[in-house]
Amino acid sequence: MTRPLTILLASPRGFCAGVDRAIQIVEKALEKWRPPVFVRHEIVHNKHVVSYLKEKGAVFVKELDECPTDRPVIFSAHGVPKSVFSEAQRRHMIFVDATCPLVVKVHVEAERLYQTGKEILLIGHANHPEVVGTLGQLPSGAIHLIETIKDAATYQPSKPDELAVVTQTTLSVDDTAEIINTLKERFPNIALPHKEDICYATTNRQAAVKAIAARTDLFLVLGTDTSSNSQRLAEVAKKAGAGDARLIDDVSHIDWGSLNNIKTLGLTAGASAPESLLQEVISECRNRFTVLLQEVDSAQEDITFKLPHIVDSVVS
Ligand code: SF4
Repeated sequence: MTRPLTILLASPRGFCAGVDRAIQIVEKALEKWRPPVFVRHEIVHNKHVVSYLKEKGAVFVKELDECPTDRPVIFSAHGVPKSVFSEAQRRHMIFVDATCPLVVKVHVEAERLYQTGKEILLIGHANHPEVVGTLGQLPSGAIHLIETIKDAATYQPSKPDELAVVTQTTLSVDDTAEIINTLKERFPNIALPHKEDICYATTNRQAAVKAIAARTDLFLVLGTDTSSNSQRLAEVAKKAGAGDARLIDDVSHIDWGSLNNIKTLGLTAGASAPESLLQEVISECRNRFTVLLQEVDSAQEDITFKLPHIVDSVVS
């Protein structure tokens, strides 16, 4: 008989509606136009998803000028600057926008605030493709990036009574609340989103981790290290009391020796990580331990997003 190991499984976890839609868009595009179909930037930040789509005939590029003009190109779930759309049109390319509708919502809000003369602050991480896409919705310099509490405490606006905030969708709920509070204290008239722009999937996955983290000796988060929401889950687990927390791409990244003294293991997956990767971890744990598996549900999700008509019309 092997040693007992309790696994607490966070729920909800894994694919969100925006990731599911983006992957389906690439699959449908490959069906409709046949390979190769080009994808600007990783469609979602997960190396297994990217390899799976590469095998089916998707070609991932950084910029449009790497794509031939006679093949379709897909824009990733993170969103793109407006200049990318103009460039694709100028080159007469077929393009499909896989930007998550919840990111589009932030783009629309930034545009609306700009039209009403607001000075716009974007809370987010510099150079993340979503942030690059949101900044690129408006003329250069129209949106100011706030990354940290220090930025919020020192930012010098030119229109202090006309400030407005939008946020990246995949931030830490708690860290963002602290940044917003700092801004509110300094600028009481600042216009805030009704609810932060942090999306339902990010919020629910962080809440699910928080609900169990304090009971775990180690928390493993399935996800690639470029995935913002996955990185945040590992941070949230640690802050919420897990003995330790690590982000791993798959079961091959587990250092089994480090589990020698672990009695309770927490498990979750970021919004871009396939459930099969997490099931492989459970399966390998069963080979090594006598596993007691407990799934802890903290929210129900039933959100789905429609596919763009251009790929949804594929006859299967
Ligand atoms: Fe959309 Fe949120 Fe998923 Fe990003 S994490 S793709 S914003 S639902």
